[in-house]
Amino acid sequence: MKNENFYSIFAKVRKNKIEELKNKINYLGISLSDIEEKFVKGGGKGGQKINKTNNAVMLRYVPLNVMVKCQKDRSLSVNRFIALRELVDSIEKILIKDPEKKKIIQNTKKRGVMILEGKTLSDKIINETRIMAEEFLKIKGRRPSLAIINYYENSPSAYYMNLKIKKCNSIGIDTRVYMPENKTDKGYFISLIEKLNGDPDTDAIMVEKPLPDGFDDENFWDVLGFKKDVDALSSVNMGRLFITKSFSDIENGNFFVPQTAYAAVKLMKYHNIEISGKKIAVVGRSSIVGKPLAIMLSLLDATVTICHSKTKNLDYHLKNSDIIITAIGKPKYIKGDMIGNDQIIIDIGTNFDENGKMCGDVDFDSVKEKVKAITPVPGGVGPVTLSLLLNATVKAAKNLV
Ligand code: NDP
Repeated sequence: MKNENFYSIFAKVRKNKIEELKNKINYLGISLSDIEEKFVKGGGKGGQKINKTNNAVMLRYVPLNVMVKCQKDRSLSVNRFIALRELVDSIEKILIKDPEKKKIIQNTKKRGVMILEGKTLSDKIINETRIMAEEFLKIKGRRPSLAIINYYENSPSAYYMNLKIKKCNSIGIDTRVYMPENKTDKGYFISLIEKLNGDPDTDAIMVEKPLPDGFDDENFWDVLGFKKDVDALSSVNMGRLFITKSFSDIENGNFFVPQTAYAAVKLMKYHNIEISGKKIAVVGRSSIVGKPLAIMLSLLDATVTICHSKTKNLDYHLKNSDIIITAIGKPKYIKGDMIGNDQIIIDIGTNFDENGKMCGDVDFDSVKEKVKAITPVPGGVGPVTLSLLLNATVKAAKNLV
């Protein structure tokens, strides 16, 4: 079942309703596990043994295990998901008479959360980027190149840095990593950026956070050249995001934006999540995620509430939103009792739990029964961020921004 969104329905179906069910499923255009086969075999709780010779009689009340699933190469859009829920409702209404089975259906329905996976979108962006990198090599006789400055070896960003390097190499982008040992010499940090700004063989510069105390200030923001600043840490790119009046300026690549925030929006759009007119709580106000995200969402006509560590009654803001986006850096902090029902959650957090397993800011297990849709961690916003950064690197090389 890897890479597949699926929705399973355990239903008791009358023979004469099978065609009706199939037609509804065909209408939705969703692939379906073989009804006939499961039908003949019976199966599921209380399934009856049926052999092909007498199934004409037995089929009347055989439990039917219907697995409706998304095709591998596409994800289930919100509209299709809602249509699917309606389908389940109609099965319930038309076909289910047995109260015990009804209970099973209702429980199954509750588990029917839509997973907003990021891998398919990420692969698409990576493939486009690979082609752009090949074109660049043909024209310029060298590969696009990304310089990465990283001060801390064991931070979550170092985890992402290693993924970036691997991915860059696999699609034709060169990387160079700078890991200054002296964590107090700010002068060296600034001169390194100046050197990379002026280096014709460096197309893009990424500075991984966190930085040593006192390094993340205007000396740095103003020195970082905006044309190489693919994650938009510079004053110029940040300022442009602040001033722009239209999201299409971002889509058209008129300047660089913080890619994690952009990835969250791209993923929402990819899954057809409506943003305009929605109440969205963004939890986290950092300059690389929360704040730019709030600007992007408001450009897309959402009403945004920015929450942070001093927000009073966080639950109230979460419960009163249609969509919750978290970027706080606290493993499994948001629990099921803090949110409302049928909301959409975008979890940007990249944390590690007490067993060293990667997890988000949201406690997936405790919210999954309540939410309409949620991003997984890992496998949600993370891969999209990575692919957008690579894409921005090649755009910087081609002087497209
Ligand atoms: P920062 O530490 O810079 O910011 C965290 C924000 O969360 C702050 O605004 C802070 O509030 C707020 N916050 C902390 N605790 C709470 C709380 N209990 N309630 C409400 N708000 C709280 O983190 P980043 O923005 O850099 O990163 C956030 C998360 O996103 C991290 O897990 C990081 O690993 C992840 N990330 C993921 C990426 C991806 O591609 N998926 C890329 C980049 C980051 P205050 O301002 O008051 O301190």
